Amino acid sequence: MATTPEIRTSVLIVGGGLTGLTAAALLACRGIRCLVVERHAGTSIQYKFTGISPRSMEIFRGIGLEAEIRAERTGDQQGGGIARAKNLADPDIHWSDLGWPDAHPFSPTQPATCDQHVLEPILRHHAEHHGADIRFNRQLEGFEEDARGVHARIRHLASGDEEIVHADYAIAADGANGGMRERLGIDRSGPGPLQHWISIIFDTDLPPLLKGRRFTSCFITDLNGTVTPRAGGRWLLALQYYPQKGERPEAFDAARCRDLAVRAAGRPDIKAEPVDIRAWDVAASIADRFRQGRTFLIGDAAHLMPPTGAFGGNTGIHDAHNLAWKLAMVLKGEAKPSLLDSYDAERRPIVQATQAQALARLQSWFKDPSRRLPPAVPLAPDYDVVFGQRFDAGAFLPAGSASDGPFEAHATLAGRPGTRAPHLWLERSGQRLSSLDLFGGNFVLLASKAIWHQAAEEARRRLGLPLVCEIIGSGGDITDVDGRWPAAYGLDPDGAVLVRPDGFVAWRASQGETEPARALSAALRHLGLGLVGNRERVP
Ligand SMILES: Cc1cc2nc3c(=O)[nH]c(=O)nc-3n(C[C@H](O)[C@H](O)[C@H](O)COP(=O)(O)OP(=O)(O)OC[C@H]3O[C@@H](n4cnc5c(N)ncnc54)[C@H](O)[C@@H]3O)c2cc1C
Repeated sequence: MATTPEIRTSVLIVGGGLTGLTAAALLACRGIRCLVVERHAGTSIQYKFTGISPRSMEIFRGIGLEAEIRAERTGDQQGGGIARAKNLADPDIHWSDLGWPDAHPFSPTQPATCDQHVLEPILRHHAEHHGADIRFNRQLEGFEEDARGVHARIRHLASGDEEIVHADYAIAADGANGGMRERLGIDRSGPGPLQHWISIIFDTDLPPLLKGRRFTSCFITDLNGTVTPRAGGRWLLALQYYPQKGERPEAFDAARCRDLAVRAAGRPDIKAEPVDIRAWDVAASIADRFRQGRTFLIGDAAHLMPPTGAFGGNTGIHDAHNLAWKLAMVLKGEAKPSLLDSYDAERRPIVQATQAQALARLQSWFKDPSRRLPPAVPLAPDYDVVFGQRFDAGAFLPAGSASDGPFEAHATLAGRPGTRAPHLWLERSGQRLSSLDLFGGNFVLLASKAIWHQAAEEARRRLGLPLVCEIIGSGGDITDVDGRWPAAYGLDPDGAVLVRPDGFVAWRASQGETEPARALSAALRHLGLGLVGNRERVP
């Protein structure tokens, strides 16, 4: 009798979309074995996520993908404007400059426009290059957890064959309708669906120019929809439909979609061949918990928000980034499993506040499409939302007063524990680098005085923790190019700051310590770090 093949891995990732592939790339780069199961035959062919925030680009820069994403970009961040017209042939075009502003004062990188169907293969190849096992055409059919790990039944959709996967942990990256959240018994709250849209991808011979000017997208008032041009002539037309008026997504067949594309163009003589027609809802909801036992929800499985603000996919990338280093440290036995509690504690309040910003933008651009939304919160600048996130509680030692809101002003981030470490231009061996380039691997202690080097050495020995100490200034090999260190991190010259692998500040000794080694070790222990001798093993 044939037995069902069994596979053992450290992290099972259910869903190989944007966030599942990001999590796989981040874990694989940390040397963690992971297996992705994705029911589609390949990566997404839909554009969907387009605007990569500069914070997400910092995350991709950290795993060496910045140049490739920029080389493969699908839109022109600087060149194209956002247009509004009756149709593409309308001589009366209104231009606006919506989009992410210049990020250079706050970040070593810039936003990028790279559609999901282009970004996903980049993430996939990077993850596979670093050892991730990514399997398409596989659907999760059964899932259970016991004290030793998670156990999943996976079906190969082409052959019908089954496999059993055993893992220490699982990540539910299965999107809005994947079903993992329900399997885990986690409810979700929020207003739910707010608008109904159809995305039509069509091949065309239209030029990507309006009166000679390149455009990123054009809002077509004749159709109450948006046209997005893309290189190669494969364009997107996105339209709202109204079920309350009896409209149904099935009615958008190829002939009707071709006709709609022709109407959007405003001229009958164009090529318009529909390639993919898909209905989707603008919705808002958040899972009541982002963790159940050994399973963590990320991306759309954890939260849905309207695309207004382009925060949705970026929030999923941040989820994966917040979780990956914690899982890696626990799996390597460098941190207690309690470190994983901080994922929900840190991410859920930020997700709630980010969703409120997306809804406030929806309300200001469309009014309230559902008439069910709570009053809009005051709009925060886009870069406060993506750079200025401030944790309420989690894997850091709070300093000073309690948090006064989820976002700090991005231009004045100052090294407060629970916020992203500020970007400074530095130099080492003649090479320019950002302070953010120092983070990403292990915990990093930044200081000006060599005494902190000895403290880090002692903490490393005591706790068996891979900890890096970087001395900036005359006592070390890093030069502060702009003269902003150490004040930009809220330190005087005797102080030091401990930064997590995700670039968030964990602990700060603003004025130095009389016993630096003891203070640093105490902080690390408080965070649950240090060899714990209980390396998790797959059963
Ligand atoms: C039109 C549109 C425009 C958008 N624009 C932006 C933007 O500019 N910026 C932004 O930040 N966000 C944007 N978003 C949001 C963004 O696309 C989503 O937040 C993002 O795709 C979520 O990624 P995900 O990996 O969590 O989920 P998904 O991309 O939905 O991936 C989930 C995957 O899980 C798989 N799966 C589900 N169940 C199973 C199972 N049982 N077994 C195996 N596999 C399974 C699915 O096949 C799917 O591939 C946009 C969304 C839309 C619809």
